[in-house]
Amino acid sequence: MEHKLYYQDAYIEHFSSRVKEQHHDLEGNWYVTLEQTAFYPTGGGQPHDIGFINEELVTNVEEIDGEIRHYIQNPVFTNHIEIDGKIDWIRRYDFMQQHAGQHVLTAAFVELFDIQTTSFHLGEETVTIDLNCSEIDDTQLLAAEELANRIIMENRPIETKWVTKEQLEQYPLRKKVKVDQDIRLVIIPEFDYNGCGGTHPRNTAEIAMLKILKVEKQNGQIRIHFVCGNRIRKQLHKKQKAVLEMVHLLSSSEEKLGDTVKVLLNQKKVLEKQLAEKQQLLIEFESKELVEFQQQAFPLIHAHYHDRSIQDLQKLAQLVVAESPSVIVLLIARNEQRLQVVLGRGQNLNVNLKAVLSEILPLINGKGGGSESFVQGGGIDGTDVVLFEDTCVNLLKNHLAKLHENV
Ligand SMILES: [Zn+2]
Repeated sequence: MEHKLYYQDAYIEHFSSRVKEQHHDLEGNWYVTLEQTAFYPTGGGQPHDIGFINEELVTNVEEIDGEIRHYIQNPVFTNHIEIDGKIDWIRRYDFMQQHAGQHVLTAAFVELFDIQTTSFHLGEETVTIDLNCSEIDDTQLLAAEELANRIIMENRPIETKWVTKEQLEQYPLRKKVKVDQDIRLVIIPEFDYNGCGGTHPRNTAEIAMLKILKVEKQNGQIRIHFVCGNRIRKQLHKKQKAVLEMVHLLSSSEEKLGDTVKVLLNQKKVLEKQLAEKQQLLIEFESKELVEFQQQAFPLIHAHYHDRSIQDLQKLAQLVVAESPSVIVLLIARNEQRLQVVLGRGQNLNVNLKAVLSEILPLINGKGGGSESFVQGGGIDGTDVVLFEDTCVNLLKNHLAKLHENV
């Protein structure tokens, strides 16, 4: 344990040491081991430190088979040379605040409601704990948050102690300790006694403050998202910016934002309904117009559009053939690089539109399908929409001519 400087003093940022060995792992990643180190390796829910060994960036630190591996980008060290280590203190101190905050919040839920924490994750943005319960209400959350902040403000010491398995009995532990040797207790006197290998500040006041942000159900448990220390300022800044922007955009006040958005969503619903009704009227009108302008001698109605959905084309085509049972309708739309086509026929005609479509689709590398009386398809093609329409019309004329021959 002597080589783990972070256990002697969690506040060591700079240290001197010697390289024990430089190696690479099975994946070819280079690392060095040191005679002593202040770099904390991933463990106990707390992420690893990053920093520098001399000029070399340390990107990851892991404890594997009892040795602490400092992962580096280039193998620049020789064995036994003296080095200077420097850990990224802002990152580490943030982790210390969050980790200590987790101990305090977890202990608060136990103290107040006898609810245990089953897991802890220290993320880049927020910290989470999973509580061993399926429900929790706002009053409980507020009470736990208040107790946690009271403990923080009381500036209680956070002590660490190495104990033997036998000595454990003297302490009112929050949870059974899983290891048999090298047992480390993190203690907030008369509040929390806990087996933990993480790094913590000297006292609770350095946690600064704790704020619960969000609660969600996760695998039958309750997951609490919270932040401590500087993260609270970051969160407040982010949320304040978002709120002020919304207040400005909606010409509302912070207190009335919820109501303003509800009104807007309601208006949107009403407008969408009105729009759908108008669109229906318009498409009915459009279908009548298409039918009126058909060439009487020839039972084919065709048109092309830009930026129109295939659902729209289908609706229009269905209206046309319902109105006019002795025609074929061909509707085409170009939507960006996509050509889409809908073909329908009235019940008095006997053309197999699937057969027609199977001749059209290869022209646009397309896919499609439908019934003998109604088909749709689409493909990606640079062909001009008018040219494509002409080709389709000619194909249909051929089919109709064959039909007449057969009759
Ligand atoms: Zn811990």
